[in-house]
Amino acid sequence: MAMSVNIAIDGPAGAGKSTIAKKLAKELGFVYVDTGAMYRAMAYYFLQNGIETSDEPAVAAACPNVDVTIAYVDGEQQVLLNGENVNGVIRTEEVGNAASVTSAYPAVRQKLVELQRQLAARLDVVMDGRDIGTCILPHAQVKIYLTASVETRARRRYDELVKKGEACELDAIAKDIEERDYRDMHREIAPLAQAEDAVLVDSSMLTIDEVAAAIREIYERTIG
Ligand code: C5P
Repeated sequence: MAMSVNIAIDGPAGAGKSTIAKKLAKELGFVYVDTGAMYRAMAYYFLQNGIETSDEPAVAAACPNVDVTIAYVDGEQQVLLNGENVNGVIRTEEVGNAASVTSAYPAVRQKLVELQRQLAARLDVVMDGRDIGTCILPHAQVKIYLTASVETRARRRYDELVKKGEACELDAIAKDIEERDYRDMHREIAPLAQAEDAVLVDSSMLTIDEVAAAIREIYERTIG
């Protein structure tokens, strides 16, 4: 059996991982796997069912009732939560912040690890997240740690939300991002970190095309 090619892109919220990963996957003919969306779907379930996200035992007790799977429609990843497509409702700040709290719990992570590994074993993927290079796919052929300054990331998220017509404040977004970074980097299990063999890319001063080209070059140097 031919081995699949895996590109892992990790980094903090708002560094541009999903935009870059999607673009790269399209260019290379790979499948884009957005693991954050899976954590968001689980958080959405807890919010919808009145489960306090800070109550780890309650969240863990609810985990057996949650089934997350993915499907692809026109090349776009769709997350199915107990069979229902939740793509349209998981991209809010509320769900993102809840995901950052509940993703620290082992019971939540255990639900998604196998799904992510199986996808990568079967398919050529560009997978983005927080622990892909360090934990999910330690043998990924290419590992990127994509980051940017808090100011840059806050400004990007702000512009994104304004474009969607959502009310927001730049300061509040920056504070959210800092809190989320802290939680993601300091949790006990699978914290956000740059893998030893990952290449650091700082997107603060780069355009999307420049970042994509830089990663593409790293890929070509590695895979040839
Ligand atoms: O990337 P995104 O903002 O969609 O991720 C939402 C949250 O899910 C992150 O803040 C992080 O806590 C969690 N996450 C994770 N591991 C991943 C992907 C996301 O813990 N591989």
